[in-house]
Amino acid sequence: NVVVFGSCNMDLVAYVPVAPKRGETVTGREFRTVPGGKGANQAIAAAKAGADVRMIGAVGADEFGAEIRRVMQDSTVDVQGLRTVPGRSGTAHIVVDDAGDNSIIVVPAANGTVDALADGDEELIAGSDSLLLQLEVPQPGVAAAAAAGKRHGVRVVLTPAPAVPLPEELLRDVDLLVPNEHEAAVLTGHDDPERALAALLELVPEVVITLGARGCTYGNRDGVRHDVPAFSVPAVDTTAAGDTFVGVLTTALGEGGEVPNALREAAAGSALSVQRNGASSAMPTRDEIADFVAR
Ligand code: ADP
Repeated sequence: NVVVFGSCNMDLVAYVPVAPKRGETVTGREFRTVPGGKGANQAIAAAKAGADVRMIGAVGADEFGAEIRRVMQDSTVDVQGLRTVPGRSGTAHIVVDDAGDNSIIVVPAANGTVDALADGDEELIAGSDSLLLQLEVPQPGVAAAAAAGKRHGVRVVLTPAPAVPLPEELLRDVDLLVPNEHEAAVLTGHDDPERALAALLELVPEVVITLGARGCTYGNRDGVRHDVPAFSVPAVDTTAAGDTFVGVLTTALGEGGEVPNALREAAAGSALSVQRNGASSAMPTRDEIADFVAR
């Protein structure tokens, strides 16, 4: 089973033909609200892919918080570790254009309170096989969770997003790092994924760099390498491609899957998700992933 320590947002999504430039107003086609945030997205992706998932994080005492909690529960995520704190829930203000590209403003709000372990969090982490972390909650919280994961022999998986340079103390506790190309470049100073991968393997034992429509590249310290292409699909919304990838990957690895197969399932899960609008609402089920891989 999987525990996610991280952010929960309400995504406020406007679909537009072309995103506005500075000072410009454009007319959108449609507006939707969908629960998101990298933490919640990874939790829902893993739960839909078949894992037993617990969420640790915080939502505000507002209608968005109640909705986020309800949608996570509907996706079978255990929300015992999800606290309701005074004030607003985190929000992400997202513009998706007709090419499927997005730009995003995140207002952390309640996520800013997730800066340490709370009562019961250590037990939730200790009782899991994998711990999924991202950087949309304060770094001291992420570091405390990673340290707890390490103490209890839990596989610690970090998505280093949004991209910031990371302290070595945090990376010491990470088993698997899953940056996208941009995040890998920020962490290492190398735009070339090959060089970035080599540099990251100096810091953590296993790395997957996701390369958008070009797939992903995996490496570990034993010199094992896998390059897995993306599935060729018509993308309409790539908002949570990376989170779906990590949720499905961790679920497959937790079930004892071999790395190349787990990477292929993750590529299939994210390929399914980019063909649909929304973040959590676009995530595929275990059966959908299996059918897609088998086709
Ligand atoms: P992020 O969403 O974090 O920026 P990426 O864009 O690298 O991450 O996407 C993560 C994974 O999702 C990729 O490795 C790939 O398997 C899949 N993916 C992303 N974009 C596409 C696409 N246009 N077509 C097919 N698969 C995609």
